[in-house]
Amino acid sequence: MVSNMSARFGQRKTAVQIFSIKSRWLAVVGIFIGIWLGSCESQTPGSDRTDPRNRPQVVSTSTIIADLTTQVGGDEIDHTSILQPGTDPHIYEPTPKDSIALEQADLILYNGYNLEPGLIRLINAAGIGGKKFAVGEVVTPLDFEYQGQTQPDPHVWGDAKNAIAMVEAIRDRLIELSPEDEAEFTANAAQLIEELRRLDTWIAEQIQTIPETQRQLVTTHDAFQYYANAYGLEVTGTLIGISTEEQPSAQTVKNLADAIRKANVPAIFAETTINPQLIETVAAEAGVKLAPRELYSDSIGAPGSEGDSYINMMIANTRTIVEALGGQDRDFEFSNSVKDN
Ligand SMILES: [Zn+2]
Repeated sequence: MVSNMSARFGQRKTAVQIFSIKSRWLAVVGIFIGIWLGSCESQTPGSDRTDPRNRPQVVSTSTIIADLTTQVGGDEIDHTSILQPGTDPHIYEPTPKDSIALEQADLILYNGYNLEPGLIRLINAAGIGGKKFAVGEVVTPLDFEYQGQTQPDPHVWGDAKNAIAMVEAIRDRLIELSPEDEAEFTANAAQLIEELRRLDTWIAEQIQTIPETQRQLVTTHDAFQYYANAYGLEVTGTLIGISTEEQPSAQTVKNLADAIRKANVPAIFAETTINPQLIETVAAEAGVKLAPRELYSDSIGAPGSEGDSYINMMIANTRTIVEALGGQDRDFEFSNSVKDN
C-alpha cells in the first residue's frame, strides 16, 4: 500500500514539470491529500497486513496449541509460540523474553488444566492486558487422582475429537480478535477439522488391528488417558503421574515392573519430552521390550521430524503403538485439501 502510494507520487512529480501553475497547485493539494491518507493508514492497525506490526499479536504456550493456531490463523496473525518442540510444559520456567511476549500479546492461547503451571502463573500476573483463553479447558476433562485429590487431566489433545473442539474455540477467539478475517479463519478451521475427523477414524481403525489382550499402554508419565479412552486401549501403568515433576521411588519402579509382567504387555514406551533412563530401567526389570520409537506426549516434534505437527504427532504415535503392540501398521492418507506439513 505504502509503496503504491510513493509510486503514484512519483508519477505526479513527472506530470507537474509539464503542467501549468494551476495544475501544479492541484498536484500539491493531491500530494497533501495523499500524505494525509497515508498517515491515516499508519494509524489504522491491520490496514497493511504485509507489515507484521499491523497484524494481531497472538501468543500460544504449548506447541500443540501453537500448531493448531498457526493453521487456523494463517498469514492473518502474527503468532509466537513460547514453548519450543520437545520442551516439557509441566516443568517449564518462563524467561524474561516470555514475559515481554505475553505483555505485548493481543490474545494469549494456553492449554490450561494446569498443564503449564509456570506460564499460567505468569499469564495471570499483573501487567498482562491481552485477552486470555484456556483452549484445552473447552474439553470436559477426565479426572485423575493426585495426593488424594481429584484434578482435571490436562492432556486433552490425546483424543482427536477434543482437538476439533479446540480448533473451533481457536477459530472463534481469532474471529473476535479480528472480525475482518472471519472468512479466512472459518475456511482454514473447516479444512483442519475435516482432516482431524479423518485422523480420528484412522486412529480408531489402527488400534483395532492390535490383538485385544495387547491393547495396553505403559508410558513414562500419565499423558495418554484421553487417547486410550477414545481409541480402546487400557493404561496398564505409568511410571509417574500427570506431572513430570515427580521422582519415582525404587518401590514404584519395582511395582510397575511387576504389573507389566502380570499384564503380559508386549512393549512399553518412552516419551520425547522426558529422559528415558528410568523407563529403560523398568523395561529391563520387567523383561519387556521398550518400543524402538518414543511417543510424542506433551509436545510436537522439531521441524522435519515425523511428529512436527499435531496431526503428524498423532499419526507417529499411533504407528509406534500399533507396531510395538502387534497390530498392522498402515499409512494415513492426507486429503488433497490439507498440506502435509
Ligand atoms: Zn504431561
